[in-house]
Amino acid sequence: MDEHGRRVAVRGAGASQSCVTRSSLRTAPPQCLIVGYPRAKSRDRAEERVLGQTKNGQKDAYELILDAIDEGTYKPGDRMVESELADRFGMSRTPIREALQRLETQSLLNRDGRSLIVASLDHNQLHELYAVRAELEGLAARLAAQHAAPEEQRVLREMVEQDRALIHDPDAMARANRRFHRQIQLASHNRYLLQQLDLVHRTMALLATTSLAVAGRPEDAIGEHDAIVRAIEARDGDAADEALRTHISKAFETRLKLDSFDDV
Ligand SMILES: [Zn+2]
Repeated sequence: MDEHGRRVAVRGAGASQSCVTRSSLRTAPPQCLIVGYPRAKSRDRAEERVLGQTKNGQKDAYELILDAIDEGTYKPGDRMVESELADRFGMSRTPIREALQRLETQSLLNRDGRSLIVASLDHNQLHELYAVRAELEGLAARLAAQHAAPEEQRVLREMVEQDRALIHDPDAMARANRRFHRQIQLASHNRYLLQQLDLVHRTMALLATTSLAVAGRPEDAIGEHDAIVRAIEARDGDAADEALRTHISKAFETRLKLDSFDDV
């Protein structure tokens, strides 16, 4: 997940809005959430398990549409046309229609007359999301400090080290950031927490543009990630919770500054 967020202009409001991208937690089957770590058959395999990236078949219409929103193919305000989506994904219209209904129920799509459009978040919603993220991700970090397997700790440590090579590539860094946050959540080994975070991240998929593109932010974010991982390695739940909350707060602060520039 990406607490650094993505951003889109709020239509007609003269302000802009921000949010964060989803992680792909929804794609992790429940059994991935409580991982019995293998006796390291190979490091790659272990890491794949850690990340919940089991290759368990094709994505359904719902996941494909969410991915398309997350990747910016469809942006807030864009119309979602059933026949067009069916063509794009090579599916019949029935699963597309069902997926659209589900997305509307989750407030990811809104009705505009007879059309369904990708929803956009207002300033208040952005605040609400960051507040929930800070609480839930702080808890995830606390639980990760208590329950992370040694393999998970090492994966997190490697992620921080690898981030340093991505400082000048905001998009790559944003992707790496989502993986990092997702890894912490998986390391919490709490399926109910993951379900709650999934709800938050689905909503965050509505936003575009990363605050990691802001000068100086990548360096700061890596330092903050490092502090989170150090606390998890030390099995210090209080420190992990605090470090993650601080990280989210800093990211939100960056987002607010970015938005205020947009308003000028
Ligand atoms: Zn981060």
